[in-house]
Amino acid sequence: MKTAELFEEKTVFSLEVFPPKPEADEKVIYQTLEQLSDIHPDFISVTYGAGGGKNDCKTIQIASDIQNRYGVESVAHLPCINLTRAQAREILDRMHECGIENILALRGDKNSDTASCGEFRHASDLIQFIRENYDFNIIAACYPEIHPESRSAEDELKWLKYKVDCGADHLITQLFLDNDYFYAFREQAHATGIDVPIEAGIMPVTNKRQIERMVKLCGVELPKKFVRVLEKYEHNETALRDAGIAYAIDQITDLIADGVDGIHLYTMNNSYIAHRIFEAVESLISVSV
Ligand code: FAD
Repeated sequence: MKTAELFEEKTVFSLEVFPPKPEADEKVIYQTLEQLSDIHPDFISVTYGAGGGKNDCKTIQIASDIQNRYGVESVAHLPCINLTRAQAREILDRMHECGIENILALRGDKNSDTASCGEFRHASDLIQFIRENYDFNIIAACYPEIHPESRSAEDELKWLKYKVDCGADHLITQLFLDNDYFYAFREQAHATGIDVPIEAGIMPVTNKRQIERMVKLCGVELPKKFVRVLEKYEHNETALRDAGIAYAIDQITDLIADGVDGIHLYTMNNSYIAHRIFEAVESLISVSV
């Protein structure tokens, strides 16, 4: 099923996982997927490294298994920054053969040490390529606090609108910790004529190093109430985990009450946390249908 159709029926609740490292025991990701499939998410998306690492080929296998073994719709991510057109075609053909219908088309992060070696400059180039050659449902990334490379919010929205005009059917945001950024962004996106569903990306933060890395990489602001939680519980793993879960539930509750199109949970492959969050918001999702 194409994910864009899901929004016609309900508030979408979806999950993101990443493939295991090459040296990791494959059983673990399949145990995680089995536990995540108990949630009956609307779809599970699988990340794909832009650097061409060895575990990237696992993205297609895992996305295919999510559908065929667990009966859950899947989305395969595809960053294009280091791909030639021939390589993109090869990967997309494999995805099609595996029955994958949904692609999250991305540029990927630039590596400051090496020049990119691909033929696509932006996600919009890949979106156009897919639209011209395939029948996939296409998802694209968006940034409520604007992408670190964007010169201004106007520029950001102009290029986001261009991605939608090139063929993106649905958008998923970067993580954010202050819902007001999402509301302002969504309003501006609608005013720019962006009329596809926008899912809110929520990352339950459960460890200080993880959030510091994210803030550096994505330019996400830490609200004062979040910093208070981090500082109070940073040395107590269980307390920080529980506080991170509570914070995410609070964010999601507010977003659903405000009529968000969907929630995309960055699970970090942690099914325990995903379950706790889902159980807390399950009834809210069904009320908002
Ligand atoms: P683009 O849309 O190309 O945007 C990048 C910058 O260029 C922005 O400043 C934009 O305003 C500008 N821009 C866009 N189009 C044009 C244009 N046509 N002309 C000029 N400027 C333009 N990375 C991975 O490597 N693997 C993953 O699996 C992955 N999953 C992700 C999932 C989500 C939901 C999100 C939000 C991000 C994910 N990323 C992933 C990270 C992503 O690759 C980076 O954020 C990357 O820096 C930008 O990707 P993009 O697709 O948004 O790029």
